[in-house]
Amino acid sequence: MHGIILRTTRIKDCDLVVNWLTDEDRMVATYAGHVQGSQRFPNALELMTVYEIEYSQKPGQTMGSLKSAYSIERFDRIIEDMNSLSCASAALEAVSNLCPDESTVIDLFSTLLQSFAVMNTASELSVMILAWFECFLCYQLGVMPNLEICSQCAKPLIKSAYYQQELGFICKKCAHDESNIPEFVLEAIRRLRFQSLRETVQKALAINDEAQRRKVLAPVLKFLVSIMCDNSTMKRLKAHRFMAETALDMPKLFEL
Ligand SMILES: [Zn+2]
Repeated sequence: MHGIILRTTRIKDCDLVVNWLTDEDRMVATYAGHVQGSQRFPNALELMTVYEIEYSQKPGQTMGSLKSAYSIERFDRIIEDMNSLSCASAALEAVSNLCPDESTVIDLFSTLLQSFAVMNTASELSVMILAWFECFLCYQLGVMPNLEICSQCAKPLIKSAYYQQELGFICKKCAHDESNIPEFVLEAIRRLRFQSLRETVQKALAINDEAQRRKVLAPVLKFLVSIMCDNSTMKRLKAHRFMAETALDMPKLFEL
């Protein structure tokens, strides 16, 4: 089985807990004893490296025991480049923070490796690749608001008349004190109504003209951040507050 390390935690001098994303698209926690100098881990256990791994896990236990790990691919240039390294680390962090422990996320492993392969060869694209990867992740996890019907009366939402509420978008009739959502959110919704988040970003990344690419990507990515939240009320509230702000102070990530 192949795996990439999401995180390692030192337990004793030579023992580690290693969290993996495996080629079965699931997250696995393993205990690795006596790592240093061990024949079973000849290439140590490092980030940004793909390993051939063997582990055993008893039924009912949350942690497996790591038998061996041999490195088969190392993204050396990501490690050497600060920009790529921070983007790649953010991708790993997104996986460990957002993905459920118990179930698989389809195509996650191969998509992560593809993203790293690009970051490894084209550092200047790392920020965009990270954005694309985050879009992919959100889309696979179903983090998408309902753009079709009002979350209060369930009638179809009318184009360009979206109002926001904590639980989703509402129609003009149901909106009382709410103000209409900012232009960048409307723009993102217009684009996302006709194609998936992933398609939108993939198509945008293929555009050669930078200004044009930015015009497509910026509202969608900003919108993405606003919905990148778990189900906790606090985070959702924060996300909606974010959406209520104007498109002025764009975070650096979106200045593509
Ligand atoms: Zn309504």
